[in-house]
Amino acid sequence: MEQSQIDTLRAMPVAPQQLLINGKAVPASDGGVMEVLSPIDGSVLTTMARGTKNDMDAAIAAAREAYEDGRWAKRSPAERKKVMIRWAELVEAHALELAVLGVRDNGTEINMALKAEPGSAAGTIRYYAEALDKIYGEIAPTADDVLALVHKEPVGVVGAIVPWNFPMMIGAWKLAPALAVGNSVVLKPAETASLSLIRLAELAHEAGLPPGVLNVVTGEGAVVGQAMGLSMDVDVLVFTGSGPTGRRLLEYSAQSNLKRVYLELGGKSPNIVFADAPDLDEAAKVAAMGIFRNSGQVCVAGSRLLVEASIHDEFVAAVGRAAETLRIGDPLDLANQVGAVNSEQQLLQNLSFVEKAIAEGGQIATGGNRVLQETGGYYMAPTVVTGVAPDATIAQKEIFGPVLGVTSFTTQEEAIRIANSTDYGLAAGVWTSNLSRAHHMVRAIRSGVIHVNTYGGSDGTVPLGGVGQSGNGHDKSLHALDKYMELKTAWIKL
Ligand code: ADP
Repeated sequence: MEQSQIDTLRAMPVAPQQLLINGKAVPASDGGVMEVLSPIDGSVLTTMARGTKNDMDAAIAAAREAYEDGRWAKRSPAERKKVMIRWAELVEAHALELAVLGVRDNGTEINMALKAEPGSAAGTIRYYAEALDKIYGEIAPTADDVLALVHKEPVGVVGAIVPWNFPMMIGAWKLAPALAVGNSVVLKPAETASLSLIRLAELAHEAGLPPGVLNVVTGEGAVVGQAMGLSMDVDVLVFTGSGPTGRRLLEYSAQSNLKRVYLELGGKSPNIVFADAPDLDEAAKVAAMGIFRNSGQVCVAGSRLLVEASIHDEFVAAVGRAAETLRIGDPLDLANQVGAVNSEQQLLQNLSFVEKAIAEGGQIATGGNRVLQETGGYYMAPTVVTGVAPDATIAQKEIFGPVLGVTSFTTQEEAIRIANSTDYGLAAGVWTSNLSRAHHMVRAIRSGVIHVNTYGGSDGTVPLGGVGQSGNGHDKSLHALDKYMELKTAWIKL
């Protein structure tokens, strides 16, 4: 890919964006719009519809009608598969356009966005397209005078609320399995990263998805997201985002129709480096990328670095060197390795966490400040804070920014205790050459995934989900399909 191709795409104006309801682009019912700011330079990219409760209700009604008349749910698996494969192909064909649009909206460095956004979304859509005609029901082992069949049926209407860090990747994790098994979906993108998802949904229609099966309602979480949560007609709600919003969604469910709610709520993931790690230089580089890619706006980011005391100083120095060599800046410049923070509010919040860390006894080893302010964009230097106590605020609260807190430990037991000392449990990393220790750590750490001698690797074949306050349920892999299906038993007396 050439820089000139990116530059051509970034120069293209972005049309005002509308809601997508029943296959049609429509304005908000009260005509409301919101400005879309680019984190690259703070400029106004375009406007998008500020949906209302009425719009959300209309989208849910369209999804329900589409589900009930079977225009998608009752199509044969082979037909659904064809549409979804075509959708994946269109996403691949438009990959660069989607990636650049997404980066202009959310600030992720383009090299990463290309792989993680359209690349991953297309892969996910293809994965569930290929899986959808391999889902079988069961015949239960009953007594001979009975035939008991266990059917797997779509749940009906799925509501999906997604965040701004990887909108297409996370959006596809939810849309693809939900649609594959025949559900209708209403999608609510994040306020600061809606554009690429609107385009993704347009491509689904171009691929042949019938109108009403996938609807997109943009706007404020507290308005349209709440309306989705409180709806009596959404059967399953899937969410990736913050803990406080996750709690609200559970409350909305309790106040309405007891819809099933699946939450992916981020983490405070420990990356644990023992002195016997196979390659400390490599570990330092990977630890740096494990927190600084996408400016730390990654749910599985290794934001707590636990280092064995005997190598603490040299290892922290190596992480600092790795951090300082990262080129930060315009995320659409192929030479940059770290892009922009998604919004000014997020950047200011990151800086206030750093201040708090210092007030609580931490020392800044590198970074700690805003950079490139003259561009008008929202950039933050990769930041390493040492001397972080296990109970310090930055060791307990998810920052969702390029801030790494370092804590040293002396024994394996202490490392386990510190690693498990937060409310979260999404991801972890362990670096050691000792096979027994590696397996022991895998068993002892409470988290949905644990990386050994690497950090952050994954693909669509494995589930992603957390324990504790990192949430419940899993995205990715065949396990994700369970969220979008009901089991129904037919008990037949012979
Ligand atoms: P963050 O703080 O990282 O932006 P949020 O949890 O606020 O995380 O946002 C994730 C998604 O949740 C976004 O799409 C946002 O619009 C939505 N959201 C925010 N508040 C609510 C709410 N009260 N009800 C439903 N959705 C919400």
